[in-house]
Parts: sequence; structure tokens; C-alpha cells
Amino acid sequence: MVELIPIKSIKDIPFDENLFPGTPACAGCGGLLALRHCLKVLGKDIVIVNAAGCFTLLSIYPFTPFKNSWLYTAMACAPAGAQGIRDALDILIKKGKLDPKEDLKVVVLTGDGAAYDIGLASTSGAINRNLDFYYICYDNEAYGNTGFQWSGATPLASKTGTTQPGRLSPSGAEFFKKDLFEIWRSHKPPYLATISPSHPVDLHNKFKKAEQYKGPKLFINLSPCPPGWATEPSHSTILAKLAVDTGIWALKEAIYGDIKHTHIQKKFKSIEEYLKEQGRFTHLFKPQRQESVINKIQERVNKYWHSVQEYTK
Ligand code: SF4
Repeated sequence: MVELIPIKSIKDIPFDENLFPGTPACAGCGGLLALRHCLKVLGKDIVIVNAAGCFTLLSIYPFTPFKNSWLYTAMACAPAGAQGIRDALDILIKKGKLDPKEDLKVVVLTGDGAAYDIGLASTSGAINRNLDFYYICYDNEAYGNTGFQWSGATPLASKTGTTQPGRLSPSGAEFFKKDLFEIWRSHKPPYLATISPSHPVDLHNKFKKAEQYKGPKLFINLSPCPPGWATEPSHSTILAKLAVDTGIWALKEAIYGDIKHTHIQKKFKSIEEYLKEQGRFTHLFKPQRQESVINKIQERVNKYWHSVQEYTK
């Protein structure tokens, strides 16, 4: 395996862009910010297999912001689409009809609705078959382009289109979000990571590292979503950083199941700083402060970090 030399600063990030500006995505979309960096590392010799979601609106004929090829699939079956493309490329190479130097990387791009819920079975099958592909999930913690309805990625107490705080459920969403990282990790894929648009150097190095492995390479990006999170579009990167600084979004990777945290802080900010910034959690503070719910969220974050070896050392 070639020794990887990680980049150290944003000055080392490639200047070339593989995602053109002027897309129909919302201003300040955290998913798009991260995707721009992902494509800088992946390059343009890729095929994106895009599960239905916000980002299928990026390419609407005859316009596209991508330099690469792109295929649209239903929410449930992007990894199956990726399998078809990988097989077709492999067959062409085997028959001598495609120079291996012109091979393309296959990249699934999905929102959390497909990743956490509707497409999970298809993803599990693809990981189990050791399909050689990248999988990028832009996780905005709800079904974004249909009205921000609850998904398996929605965090406890978030207001969504289907979890409006009211008399019966004053705190909004009633469950903690699914731990998709752990669901994937149980399959022991070669590479798995969480990323954030606020940490592009970390993101870049993770994609570079993943390049060394053949098989499933999975990335979950916490994606601030101004219309759904009720935040200022100009605050998306600040908010993504707050998620890391409060410890609610752990930056980590797992190689064949072995976890390493790539960003550890000595002292985390209070979770309240993150919640207060977002309109989807306003009901936790007004008209009455919901202390027990805020504590429950903080305790969950504390419990997580106390179980992390690198943190407790
Ligand atoms: S709804 Fe949210 S995730 Fe979808 S494009 Fe807009 S900001 Fe991005």
C-alpha cells in the first residue's frame, strides 16, 4: 500500500473545482458545501449514482453542475444501480473494450431518507457483496425536499414537518437518531467515516485514505439545512463546526471496523449552544425551558465521549 501523506492546511486543498456553481440547491446547503470538497478529491473520472432526494434536483436536463457522468435512481436502489455500473465497467475492461486507465469510480450520492431508511437494505447487500464503490450521505436529518418530514436520522426533539411540538408531544421528535455509523460498521467495510463541511482538511484526508481500499467506502456528512433547521444560510459552516465543538457530531473513521476519532477536543462546548442556534429546537427554550429534554441530549453526548478511549486517556 502506498504511504499516504495527509494534507495539513486548507492551502493544500486542490484549487480545481468539479462542481459548478449556480445549482438549484438552497443557499447555504451544508450538503452541497461538503459535496464540493468530496468532488475535489474524487476528481471527474467518476459516475455518480444519485438516489432520489434534494441532490437529484442538481441535474435537471439540459443543465448539470457536474463534470462527471450521473445516473438517477429511486430512493431504495442506488447501491443496486452502482452494482450495475461497476459490473458493466469490469466487463468492458475484461473484454479489452475499456483501458483500465480509463476506469471510473462509482459513487452513490444520497440523502438521509435513502441512507437511514428506504435504501438501507440495498446498501447492506452492497456492503456484504464487497461492492467497490463510494457512498456519500448528505445527512440533513429529515426528508428535505418534500417538506422536511421526520426520518430515521432526525434527532431527539427536532421539529419537523411531521413532528410538530404540540400538546401531545411538546418536545417534537420522540426518538434519538439512528446510529448509521454503527449499522455500517457492523458490516466491517474497508473504510467508513463521518465528515463535516466545517473540516475540509479532515474530509480531504479521509477520501485520500479511502482511495487505497477496494470495496465499500462510506461517508456520512452532517449537513446543515437552512430551510429545515430554520437557520441563516450564512451560518451553515459555523453550525457544522458547533456540532463538532459540542461533541454531538463526532469526526471519526473505521477501517475494517476499527474506529479512530480524527478530532478530539479537551473540552466540549455545551450542547445548548448548538440547539439555541436552530429554529427547529426553539420550543426547547420558549415559551418554557424544557430542561429534562436538554439534559437528556447533553447526557447522551457525554455518555458517548466517556466511552471513547482516545478521549478518556
Ligand atoms: S432542503 Fe436542505 S438539504 Fe435540501 S438542498 Fe435545501 S439546504 Fe440542502
